[in-house]
Amino acid sequence: MHILPELPYDKKGFGSVISEEGFDFHHGKHHNAYVNNMNNLIKDTPMVELSLEEVISKSAQEKLTGVFNNSAQHYNHSFFWNCLSPNGGGAPSGDVANRIIRDFGSFETFKNQFSDAAVKLFGSGWVWLVADENGKLSIKPFSNADTPIISASKPILTIDVWEHAYYIDHRNARPKFVEGFWDIVNWEFANKNL
Ligand code: MN
Repeated sequence: MHILPELPYDKKGFGSVISEEGFDFHHGKHHNAYVNNMNNLIKDTPMVELSLEEVISKSAQEKLTGVFNNSAQHYNHSFFWNCLSPNGGGAPSGDVANRIIRDFGSFETFKNQFSDAAVKLFGSGWVWLVADENGKLSIKPFSNADTPIISASKPILTIDVWEHAYYIDHRNARPKFVEGFWDIVNWEFANKNL
């Protein structure tokens, strides 16, 4: 049985970027539904013994679309909650700051490119900051449930740009949500992922 992870903070700490109601729906209903769907789809199959990452890669290889979509969305959301912090925002520090400057030129350039990718991603999906085998950072937009966890790249940071991620707090205004992300982004978590 896979379980919905608890949020690692108080839902009331994110000001106008994400309200408590926003978390109640996004975490408590959307993410929860992916976990329940995944559990229902794999019960009574050998996949029930596998780790979440193994379920994602096996379902991708075997083209089990329902299992893949729900398990990848469970992984993506669990990762995303950690990318946020009520004490987050501002400029990055540590190794991630150095690598952003090395690979994008400046934090501002990176921020503009990441925001642009997040605003322009057509339909539902996720924009990721990933590190390749040599540690070089790049920005990857992925549609729907697609996830870098089954690629050679290591996930460092992500933003969910499915409409359900921002509709309660920002209605159709995805750019407002993307702008707000920079006030709550958890650089400490990004540093841990390098
Ligand atoms: Mn979502």
